[in-house]
Parts: sequence; C-alpha cells; structure tokens
Amino acid sequence: QSGLIHEMLKDELDRKGLKEDVQVIKTGCFGFCERGPIVKILPDNTFYTEVKPEDIREIVDEHLIKGRRVHRLLYLDPETEEHILDSKKMGFYKKQLRIALRNCGIIDPENIDEAIGRDAYQALGMVLTRHTPEETIEIIKRSGLRGRGGAGFPTGIKWEIARRNSADQKYVVCNADEGDPGAFMDRSILEGDPHSILEAMAICGYCIGATKGLIYIRAEYPLAIKRLKIAIRQAREYGLLGEDILGTGFRFDINLRYGAGAFVCGEETALIHSMEGKRGEPSNKPPFPAARGYLGKPTNVNNVETFANIPVILLKGAEWFSSIGTERSKGTKVFALAGKINNVGLIEVPMGITLREIIYEIGGGIKGGKRFKAVQTGGPSGGCLTEKHLDTPIDYESLTAAGSMMGSGGMIVLDEDDCMVSVAKFYLDFIVEESCGKCAPCRIGNRRLYEILERICDGKGTGEDLEKLYNLANVIKDTSLCGLGQTSPNPVLSTLNNFPEEYREHAVDKK
Ligand code: SF4
Repeated sequence: QSGLIHEMLKDELDRKGLKEDVQVIKTGCFGFCERGPIVKILPDNTFYTEVKPEDIREIVDEHLIKGRRVHRLLYLDPETEEHILDSKKMGFYKKQLRIALRNCGIIDPENIDEAIGRDAYQALGMVLTRHTPEETIEIIKRSGLRGRGGAGFPTGIKWEIARRNSADQKYVVCNADEGDPGAFMDRSILEGDPHSILEAMAICGYCIGATKGLIYIRAEYPLAIKRLKIAIRQAREYGLLGEDILGTGFRFDINLRYGAGAFVCGEETALIHSMEGKRGEPSNKPPFPAARGYLGKPTNVNNVETFANIPVILLKGAEWFSSIGTERSKGTKVFALAGKINNVGLIEVPMGITLREIIYEIGGGIKGGKRFKAVQTGGPSGGCLTEKHLDTPIDYESLTAAGSMMGSGGMIVLDEDDCMVSVAKFYLDFIVEESCGKCAPCRIGNRRLYEILERICDGKGTGEDLEKLYNLANVIKDTSLCGLGQTSPNPVLSTLNNFPEEYREHAVDKK
C-alpha cells in the first residue's frame, strides 16, 4: 500500500504542476505500524496516518496547494482528543528516544547524499584522521554499549579482544539474521538507514585491524538486501569503502552473505559455519570467534542494532551515551511491540523505562479495553512477565532477575483471553522446529517437553506431568550446548512459575 501511495502522490503532484516544487521521498519505517501508511509533510511536520489512495488528492489540494491541514487524517491524542501535528508530542513517540533508529523515516535510504546530510561517515572520517584504534575502542568501552543481539556483552571489550588477536586476516561480521517471531528491529534499520551499518563496520574494521566485512542477512529480507547493495555501491563510489578510504590509506570492504532462515544461525558460531558453507550448527566455545572465527581467523560479530549505535556514540561522545539508561545498561533499546496492544509498532526507548510506560503510554494500553495478562520479552527463548513486573525497569539485569531476558527485542503483549499454557506450547513448537539437533538435551528434551505440554493442553495431563515438565526444563537449561537450548525452556518455566493455576486447571488430577 505505501508503494502505491508514493506513486499516486508523485502522479498527483505531476498533474498539478508541482513536480519541481515538492519532493516525494520514500523513507524507511516510522515505527508506527498500527497507523500506517504514514505521510509526513515537511517543513511543517504534519504527520498523516492511515493514508489511503483516495486521500491523496485531498492532501495535495488542501495541504500542499491551499495550505490547510486535512484534520481527519491527523493522529488524535487519545487523552486530550486533540489532533497532534508534531510527531514528538504524540503518545506513541513522546517517551521514545531514537538513536539507532535516528534516520529511519527521515532519509531516503537509497540516496547516500541524504545519509551524509545527516552526518553519515563523519564518525569514520573522524576516527581515521584523529583517533588511533585503541583510542576509538576506549570511547566505545566508556560509553557502556552492550551487544543488542541478546547476550549483552560489552562491545568495546569484544573489539579489544579481537584487536589483540593478531593474524594476517581478520573479519568484521554483522549479524542480520533476525529470527524471533514478530521481531523486525534489524530489518527496519537496514531498510531505513543502511549507511549507518556500513560506517560502523568500517570503524570496527579499523579498530580490530580487519580489512573485510561480511553482512549475514536472511534471504527473506529482499528490501533490506536491495538497499544494502545500493548503499555498498554508493559508498564505494564515494571512496567510503574499498581501497584508501578518504585518502587515509585505510582499506575495508563489505560483502553480503545470505542465510536461509534457520533461527539457530543467529548464534555466532552457527552463523560463521553457515557463512563457510557448512551446516549451520553451533560449536563449543572457546575458541570464541574473536580468536578463531570465519575461515579460522579472528572475527568480530555484532548485530545490526549494536552497529547502528557506533557512529553516533563517536560523534556525540561516550559521556552523552552513558548518561542515558541505567547503571549497567546504557543507551536505548529497540523493541518490536506486538500482540494485544493498541499501538503495534517498532519503538526505541531509553533503558530503565518501565514495562508499564511501554505498554500503557507508548503502546496506548490493551486492545478493546481488556485486562493485561502478560508480556513476553526476549523472543522464543525469553519469558512471560506479569502484572507484578509492570514497574520493572527495562535493562539486562532486571529482565533476567524477573525470569525473562532482553533478547534481541521482541515484545508480545497478551490479554485476559490468552491461555498461558498454549503460549508456552507455541514457543516450544518453534524451538522444536528450529533446534539444529546437534545435542541430545535440546533435540530430544524439547520434543518430550512439547509432548507433555500437548497432553496438558488436550486436558489429558496429570499433576505428575507438571513435575516432569519442571524437572526436564531445568535439565535442558543446564545441559544444552548453545544459547538456544540453554534458554529454550524459559517460556515453560516462566509460565509455570507465574501461572501455576492455569497449568493445574488443564491437568486431569489437578494436583
Ligand atoms: Fe543445536 Fe539445540 Fe544443541 Fe544448540 S542446544 S547445538 S540448537 S541442538
């Protein structure tokens, strides 16, 4: 639909002789999926939502020709019932802070000049001419940036380890194998601001001593792939990738590798195997990729969102970044807000914001005025948090302490009508499908766990089954080889802990 709206706007402007006066740009995602397609008009910052093809003529005639806003298309503030003209005042955006998403919805991602107009490649130029790799790593360390792919490892330390491992060839890898159901954070960044990732990878290459970068992206992301290819070509043409970058003698280039949609390939060792043309299976660590990664060479792997933060940290400073967030979780986090919530969409919030603020202020509350029941964070390996967790600040440690995890950023809201046993079964079904099968606890254990859940859901389970469920889940957690298996029972354990009565209601002898 947004493609059609774009074409129709251009045609209408052409018909009205305004083609030369009004520029129509196709941007990346605004995040406010619930109200899409969105047309934003600058410079007066008018934000039209849920625009339909039949609205185009009115927007052109009324707004662009007569200078009168089309009020029925403006977003209505649910509290004041007033039309909102400035997106920063909107309930959905008010508590957001867009750092990783800073250019999404603003620039034309297929035009490098627009990215440069928003400071793209300035941080690269700055570090190449003014900072040593060690100084640059120090800034990233001081910023407190931690990996946004799930594990939360400090990025600066990761780069430092890769730098210390000397080799004739090193690699920088961007993990764009986003696989959580309902998650599209990385896809949006790549579609809306691909140059920020290329720039950050080049900076990482300079820091660790690598000349080659690879983006491992799932083949199901055709638009992100198309825009990355355009961005790489343009960056090469502008001397921002390739030989002798910006005349500094630094050499770095980036190529794409495609994933076939296996969830486990988001795990860095499995991802590297897949890039090498082998089966996408994880391997024991150590050795870590920083010592022996792609083709046996030191490799630094970061995910898309982590990289998106790098240029802006270098331009604005470590202190600016570390002033945002909580003591141990700095900066912001992007979440894909989905489920039974009024404002479904992609959001970026400062660490430390509460679940209540996200669900009731940004998310606009539960759909249809129903009661909130739980929120699943951390994707299929995360957990369900309940009403008592609503004031939990969002950071790595608090989410883990509450029985879930940050993960890569999936956030699915559930209401009073959702059965928590079925929710656990849904996620476990996904894990059973996606387990690579290399180790027995994950391959066999999760299948048995699924069978027990199936029995319980069919009303054939017993109290003994509940005990088995708990014990088996803990064995899988303790003995699986990789992170996927180690976290796979989380949805079962968190729903068992937080909603034991729902399991007992399903079980036959209700022990
Ligand atoms: Fe494969 Fe699961 Fe074992 Fe990981 S835990 S290696 S996904 S079988």
